[in-house]
Amino acid sequence: MKIRNMNEINITGKRVLIRCDLNVPIKNGIIQSDARILASLPTIELAVRNKAKVIIMSHLGQPKNECYEKKYSLFPIFEYLKKKIHYTKVYFSNDYSNIIAINPGEILVLENVRFNSGELKNDAILSKKYAKLCDIFVMDAFGSAHRKQASTYGIGSFVNVACAGPLLISEITMLKKVLKNPKRPMVSIVGGAKVSTKFNVLNKLANISDHVVVGGGIANTFLAIDYDIGKSLHESEFILKAKKLRDKHNNIIIPIDSRIGKNFSHTEPSTIKSPSKIKKNEEIMDFGDETIKKVINILEHAQTIIWNGPVGVFEFPNFRKGTEKIAKTIANNSGFSIAGGGDTLSVIDMFDIKNKISYISTGGGAFLEFIEGKKLPAIEMLEKNFSQQILNNIV
Ligand code: AMP
Repeated sequence: MKIRNMNEINITGKRVLIRCDLNVPIKNGIIQSDARILASLPTIELAVRNKAKVIIMSHLGQPKNECYEKKYSLFPIFEYLKKKIHYTKVYFSNDYSNIIAINPGEILVLENVRFNSGELKNDAILSKKYAKLCDIFVMDAFGSAHRKQASTYGIGSFVNVACAGPLLISEITMLKKVLKNPKRPMVSIVGGAKVSTKFNVLNKLANISDHVVVGGGIANTFLAIDYDIGKSLHESEFILKAKKLRDKHNNIIIPIDSRIGKNFSHTEPSTIKSPSKIKKNEEIMDFGDETIKKVINILEHAQTIIWNGPVGVFEFPNFRKGTEKIAKTIANNSGFSIAGGGDTLSVIDMFDIKNKISYISTGGGAFLEFIEGKKLPAIEMLEKNFSQQILNNIV
């Protein structure tokens, strides 16, 4: 089924409500990484240039009980946008019932959608309220496209025209490109803390990749199939599933040596051991040098790379080497590389390789669910709305 693209619609003079994903880390009112705002800017600026009356909404963090909390206010993001888009007027409002009337080419930033009662539950009354704010709804928040909430999904049933913004379109296009016709060899790297959150994606990637490198707590669960891995982070209830996956596919690369420590601490020294030598009071926190060498060799020959998650506790200097070497090898690879997921973006920032990855997705959960092959609720909403537009002779 088709979805409508914002670029195909005349938005001049119209009230255009854009659902962005401006969920950036903020400490004491200061934005720590503006990556997601920068990714949304082209869409916002395109709407401004086309003289739409631009209304922006987004979530930020996880406020409790859908109530206002200063630390989750979008006000610092409004201030950032006001500076960045200095050539037009930018307003802020926390009142969804009585919104300020703005002129074509101006911007209104609305307060965090998660302060609104019913947002998370995809409440129909709230969805209708959002729909009344606009003539055209633009879904551009790829990072929230896997959520069935009022501002990402429910609104689509009540608005005449819903369409996909340029960021959402480019995310889908890039992911489809890598999943449908990858140049081979294709190598996937799945790191991070918990295998349970990434098991389905591992399954899918094992089916379509030439090699799947597992790292972090995920690799530990695979190691626990054959070894006693001391106090290393792993999920014992997933060991059997991991074994089935490993035995079904012979392309899963499991570490042959690891960096271990006794305490989970920033200053902990590391030693390298093979998995059979790990003691009860030790924990695996990174790849060892033999594993790094093996993975680098595989990555250097890759034509396509999908990367999600650090392969060790990259926050600790002595357990950073595996993640750093892998990140830099991906950066130097001349094939097509795609990276996504919260901590992957922090790693990319840490090693300053942003411009060397072919495509960096803004999605974490949405990135993983798309790879798994799940239909994202926001896409389903856009498809339904498009069919309705055809029935209503709007297209
Ligand atoms: P995720 O959100 O699942 O991608 O997990 C990222 C987190 O996993 C990072 O904060 C890493 O420090 C952590 N991590 C990676 N490897 C390990 C490990 N071997 N033991 C404990 N934590 C790890």
